[in-house]
Amino acid sequence: MTLAGKTALVTGGSRGIGRAICLRLAAQGANVGINYVSRAAAAEEVLAEITAAGGKGFVIGFDVTDSAAVQNAVKTISADHGGVDILINNAGITRDGLMARMKDEDWDAVLNTNLKGAFTCSKEAMRGMMKKRWGRIINISSVIGCVGNAGQVNYAAAKAGLIGLTKSMAKELASRKITVNCVAPGYIVTDMTTELPEEIKESILAAIPLGSIGQPEDVADAVAYLAAEESGYVTGQTLHVNGGMYMGN
Ligand code: NDP
Repeated sequence: MTLAGKTALVTGGSRGIGRAICLRLAAQGANVGINYVSRAAAAEEVLAEITAAGGKGFVIGFDVTDSAAVQNAVKTISADHGGVDILINNAGITRDGLMARMKDEDWDAVLNTNLKGAFTCSKEAMRGMMKKRWGRIINISSVIGCVGNAGQVNYAAAKAGLIGLTKSMAKELASRKITVNCVAPGYIVTDMTTELPEEIKESILAAIPLGSIGQPEDVADAVAYLAAEESGYVTGQTLHVNGGMYMGN
């Protein structure tokens, strides 16, 4: 499943799942744009790993909630790398808390980053894909968007919203041979999840039929399939990567 000749942009590529996606797409031959918002050094490390392995990439810092910055970034990628062929909307944050006490700014921050950020990046990147009549857009949702979770109304709403966004975009863009899919990870070891209390981690593990916590590479493998030429007849889907903890509809 070669991605040679394609340019990918991975939002939030500096750490965790995004980092694993960058490494995987570069290993498949893509030229990978590694996005970050604040940790430039982490993004540079990902680039160093890619180049050490003989791959191609570049670092591109911007905030997915800043529409003007997203526009500029996509313009730069078009000028320097021929445009975005594969977009992975992975950047995400949590601001957990029970709804009764949740501040408006915690709702807004999570919806703006996790959902509106995907809308903005897709809107900018898809223009070039439409001209080329080829494209792949992959949104990183979450099992929480499918089953809900106490303390995460903002995150669950954003991640469920990504699934509706995906299906609608898939219908709008199908005639241009652009596929749009979601990957919905379960519980994956990253900075986002290491802070969870031990007893919560144990109860999550007990609910995973495959009996282990996921690794960022498990998600990256699913993304690599959906980014490839070989998945061209798959669109509007959500691929659950969760060890069986939720099996979809
Ligand atoms: P991490 O917290 O490890 O990394 C988050 C990444 O997003 C970082 O690269 C960060 O950049 C970037 N980011 C955050 N805000 C912005 C922004 N405004 N603009 C651009 N980049 C931003 O997260 P994970 O790797 O765990 O999660 C990645 C995705 O997977 C998220 O969408 C998350 O919701 C989803 N997911 C994660 C699961 C898990 O168990 N870990 C489960 C299900 C879904 P910087 O390094 O500069 O801060």
